[in-house]
Amino acid sequence: MHSIENQTEPLGHTWVSVVGARPQFVKLAPICRAIEKHNAQLSEIPIDHRIIHTGQHYDRDMAELLFEQMAIPMPDYNLAVGSSSHGSQLARMMQRMEPILKADRINWVIVYGDTNSTLAGALLAARLKIPLAHIEAGCRSFDLGQPEEQNRIVADHLSQLLLAPSTAANENLRREGIGGENDPQKRVSLMVGDVMYDALLQHLTLAEKRTEPKLKELKLKSKEYYLLTLHRAENTNNRRRLAAILKTVMSLDLPVLFPVHPRTKQVLSLAGIYLNSKIRTIPPVGFLEMIALEKNALKILTDSGGVQKEAFYLGVPCITLRDQTEWPETVTCGANQVAGTDPDSIREAVRGARHSDWSKLTVYGDGNTAVRIVDQLLVARAH
Ligand code: UDP
Repeated sequence: MHSIENQTEPLGHTWVSVVGARPQFVKLAPICRAIEKHNAQLSEIPIDHRIIHTGQHYDRDMAELLFEQMAIPMPDYNLAVGSSSHGSQLARMMQRMEPILKADRINWVIVYGDTNSTLAGALLAARLKIPLAHIEAGCRSFDLGQPEEQNRIVADHLSQLLLAPSTAANENLRREGIGGENDPQKRVSLMVGDVMYDALLQHLTLAEKRTEPKLKELKLKSKEYYLLTLHRAENTNNRRRLAAILKTVMSLDLPVLFPVHPRTKQVLSLAGIYLNSKIRTIPPVGFLEMIALEKNALKILTDSGGVQKEAFYLGVPCITLRDQTEWPETVTCGANQVAGTDPDSIREAVRGARHSDWSKLTVYGDGNTAVRIVDQLLVARAH
């Protein structure tokens, strides 16, 4: 494997970010801001940052809306892969991305998180011997059955620069022989913090402006509803599991607001799962509205990775509807309870969840992670 110290390309900073799914747009936004800041400082070598959007998520409210709200530059390329089986989606991504990555000298391919777009970008960069950086490296749920876990492990092992959101994530990498003095591949892994914290802080004021109108529109009162999100394959691919979660949620004591992910919407209608009036389903909302709705929820129930962390940052108790989490720090400090899908444990977790101020905890950095990442990409390039 090529190491970042051995790069022989001429100096220059051509970076390509590969994204495709909603949480990746959120992670990309602060990186774009940090690059813009670097370029505005009239640096000798500006960063030529190009964005490839694979088209994994393509509905306006899952993609375009986030680009608009977070002022992310329009993608340079849209591969428009759409949804299909894992195999054909990955194949299409790689096939359509290959000529783009081959056309120019690229100094970094940057992949984000744990989706199929992460996997496709990582595999292709490795095949084409382009240095690869992974943002949100080292997270582990230790459940190899999850597509996300498979994607993140492959991306981590193929990367030269691994940017971990927490000390525990960095330690996971060390345990797998990545980074550190004894890594024969000379990969560099660093705890830099969580870019999603940057994203949240950068948009909080705008989100607050949306709060009153959004709650009014939905006829909800602050701290008098639960917020629910569900989209992970382990829940949506299992009708019994999905129906059990929803049945339990429908028995809670307050209205439940449920912005429905397109995949979940499809499964709900195919599986004929009935929802009573306790659950208010709405289409996915923009990032600003989501932050506003998270902040004003009494408690959040979710199987999302990103939403677990946002609940923690906002001081809203979280109940995770999965058997494990790749964000163990949120559990250790009492912000998050991993309830699984058993009705009694969900009800108990909801009852027991208490509000607290976890905002002083800096386990995921200080909100300046993107700047740190850009610095690391520049430094590593200079070797
Ligand atoms: N999100 C959003 N609108 C919604 C639901 C979620 O903007 O209707 C945001 C949420 O605030 C977080 C991100 O999407 O920043 C999480 O993405 P998702 O839950 O789809 O994926 P995961 O984090 O599980 O990979």
